[in-house]
Amino acid sequence: MPALVLTLALTGASGSTRAADPAPVNEVAPGVFVHTGQIAEATRDNDGDTSNWGFVVGERCIAVIDSGGSTATGEALLAAIRSQSPLPVCAVISTHVHPDHILGNAALASLKPAPEFVASQRLPAALAARQSTYTALALRQLGADRAPVFVAPTSLVGAQTVQINLGNRDLTVRSWPTAHTDNDLTVSDETSGTLFAGDLLFVDHIPVLDGSLTGWLAQIPTLRALSATRVVPGHGGVASGAAAVAAAWDREHAYLLDLRDRVRASLRIGTALARAVDTLTAPAGWQLTELYHRRNVTAAYAELEWED
Ligand SMILES: [Zn+2]
Repeated sequence: MPALVLTLALTGASGSTRAADPAPVNEVAPGVFVHTGQIAEATRDNDGDTSNWGFVVGERCIAVIDSGGSTATGEALLAAIRSQSPLPVCAVISTHVHPDHILGNAALASLKPAPEFVASQRLPAALAARQSTYTALALRQLGADRAPVFVAPTSLVGAQTVQINLGNRDLTVRSWPTAHTDNDLTVSDETSGTLFAGDLLFVDHIPVLDGSLTGWLAQIPTLRALSATRVVPGHGGVASGAAAVAAAWDREHAYLLDLRDRVRASLRIGTALARAVDTLTAPAGWQLTELYHRRNVTAAYAELEWED
């Protein structure tokens, strides 16, 4: 490994005494690099490497989309960038507030010049409401010596779409009505047709509901109609080609629709939530259902209980 690469990695590694090993990435299209995290809960062993992230290299600078679930994942991300390009990182885009997607930002905060930290205008309130819970969770999962650091966004995206120019390459950042969370963003690389969907799309990992079930169902047709050439989900493998992209959206939609319809039916006959979480079992074919499906039923109950 050339000495230059090592030096650059050290510069950005936020005070660590050695450069992190670069995280494995796939170049899914020219200049578009994706890391696929494990389909697992965060633990000390995996150090929060449980979500997907990527970076896009333009002629002038680089944009990062999500950064994994710990400072260490961010350091490995930075090392991966430096193994590909010496260009500066000009934007770090967080697709939503969940800590498995944003805790790596801590490793990117010491870059000079500082990148813009881009997030939904609703992310700061969501983070303020949850930060102590997220901190306790990270300390429990990663260890007491790995305290999470949350980086405040410097550039907020409202209802309009925002273009980020990386030098002869444009990214489109879109803000979405409440779906997976109330602060979801997607990022489209217009050059390659790659859509970074954040957790608006789950592949293999069971979808996790923390926003609005009916809202999410309402947005999927619009997301699908973006007709991306490939889509990078928040969790699970990249879907490449129009048919695979459409199938990924359809599969998620089917899970959410089934959840909505079974919860509605259950509410109609007056089933108590405590019983419903046992009887409304998860459909086959998804991973981590034991961790998230009951929680999804509970969230759906709370949302749909007061429908007409
Ligand atoms: Zn999420």
